[in-house]
Amino acid sequence: MTTVPTVKLNNGVEIPQLGFGVFQVPDDQTTAAVAQALEAGYRSIDTAAIYGNESGVGRALANSGIAREELFVTTKLWNADQGYDATLRAFDASLAKLGLDHLDLYLIHWPTPARDLYLDSWRAIEHLAGDGRIRAAGVSNFQPAHLTRLRENSTLVPAVNQIELHPGLQQTELRAFHAQHGIATEAWSPLAQGAVLNDPAVTAVADRTGKSPAQVVLRWHLQLGNIVIPKSVTPARIRQNLEVFDFELTDEDMAAIAATDRDLRTGPHPDQFN
Ligand code: NDP
Repeated sequence: MTTVPTVKLNNGVEIPQLGFGVFQVPDDQTTAAVAQALEAGYRSIDTAAIYGNESGVGRALANSGIAREELFVTTKLWNADQGYDATLRAFDASLAKLGLDHLDLYLIHWPTPARDLYLDSWRAIEHLAGDGRIRAAGVSNFQPAHLTRLRENSTLVPAVNQIELHPGLQQTELRAFHAQHGIATEAWSPLAQGAVLNDPAVTAVADRTGKSPAQVVLRWHLQLGNIVIPKSVTPARIRQNLEVFDFELTDEDMAAIAATDRDLRTGPHPDQFN
């Protein structure tokens, strides 16, 4: 079985560099998809309260028989639950659905600047981390201004910022900011939901290496040091997306894909989404 390398976070906790995402998977299909992923060798699962499938994830985890300490489970605080007390309540609800007594990573899903509650939410998360109920605390979709504001108001530096990131939206500025401040970069929609898989720069590498375009894109992320969480409900793709540790992109391949950056967003802009 494939062994996935880990990335050491700023508090020493290790996260698998490649995990499994379940956005847009209905709860009743999530148990089967996560079971397939665990069977294939994934140990990191990325869900969110708003996906409505934490129960489905929890069932798959419980049925797997895999020891809790081998699993890495991430979920996210939804926008409507921001604020100190609401965050504590939402966290308890997520844990109950997942059937767990602690989380490996808890993320503020979006900064939602118009609500202006992410500092309060972060204080609640700090409290949960202090109690040992969260092994690592992070954020998602935070822009440099939001991260700076957290820094100015808290001593807890987010371990992770999970952002939209793929060859069509390479987030160079944000990645540099993360590197400067010890924040790990986690890529959501690492395949741009399929939108970059026909890029000639990608298919050319796929043709030469005998790998699929999705494998080439995942390999590009891994070589940049990104954490990735591709989603699939297709068993062959679930397995395929894990088979990315037996080949390498050359510097020329990396440069050719770097040249395809084009401000391609599949999701909302974090400054506007509330
Ligand atoms: P991805 O970039 O992972 O793409 C998923 C799509 O690509 C699906 O349509 C899937 O099809 C297809 N696909 C997967 N593998 C292959 C393959 N090998 N070949 C061809 N097509 C493939 O998109 P997501 O938006 O799902 O992002 C991944 C995860 O990131 C989410 O599941 C979620 O956990 C997280 N996320 C977080 C967000 C945030 O705001 N923090 C926002 C969005 C996502 P099929 O399933 O039919 O096989």
